[in-house]
Amino acid sequence: MIRVEGVTKRYPNGHHGLVKVSLTVHRGEFVFLVGPSGAGKSTLIRMLYGEDRPSEGEVMIDQFRLRRMTMRQLPRLRRQLGIVFQDVKLLPTRTVFQNVAFAMEVVGASRKEITKRVPQVLELVGLARRRDHYPSQLSGGEQQRVGIARALVNQPTYVLADEPTGNLDPETASEIMKLFQEINRRGATVLMATHARDLVNQMKKRVIAIEGGQVVRDEVRGAYGYES
Ligand code: ADP
Repeated sequence: MIRVEGVTKRYPNGHHGLVKVSLTVHRGEFVFLVGPSGAGKSTLIRMLYGEDRPSEGEVMIDQFRLRRMTMRQLPRLRRQLGIVFQDVKLLPTRTVFQNVAFAMEVVGASRKEITKRVPQVLELVGLARRRDHYPSQLSGGEQQRVGIARALVNQPTYVLADEPTGNLDPETASEIMKLFQEINRRGATVLMATHARDLVNQMKKRVIAIEGGQVVRDEVRGAYGYES
């Protein structure tokens, strides 16, 4: 379970990223985080993976309390998390297979585990036939699929995504959204910040809207609710 309790984030320049935000996400949920640019969506996601700390309040993910977590404890939390960004940042000199394998190497997986797991996850994201291609040989949508495979390869409990379809055309974005739905169906909890209004409206998932660093709406089968 993800629990955010009374979290305020003040940046050193005096800007408020979040103001007294509280929310709970249970295991197995699919949650969209929506709101205008500058609302605090990325700030919230950064809090959840320990990239940034609350100024006030507490963030809990299962047994982890993030406010006072040390750098040494962080890798244990991160192993439970798969993180997907708008900007995928693949290693350009490595193949699709090697890019995904790298995420397993850094957590100390064996060669045997890597050889078994990477093809499974490439199959899931629809890139089995691209395994020996380099990032420059892939379309934007395919690159994002590699990013998703990389996030999933260590079988995280929670998948956090910050604008994963932001660079993609509508058709490709829709395919990527279906992939997240499948990932959720297979058991991962998904929390996604997005501007993809039409897709949010189609999917009828829980929608948490934030504005000016505050939660302004939280609906179980919600809609995007903004003109964007
Ligand atoms: P969103 O992801 O919804 O576009 P952000 O979380 O990026 O919003 O930003 C929320 C607010 O926090 C904005 O006012 C932004 O200017 C501020 N902010 C975000 N990151 C920083 C930072 N590193 N330093 C100072 N202010 C920041």
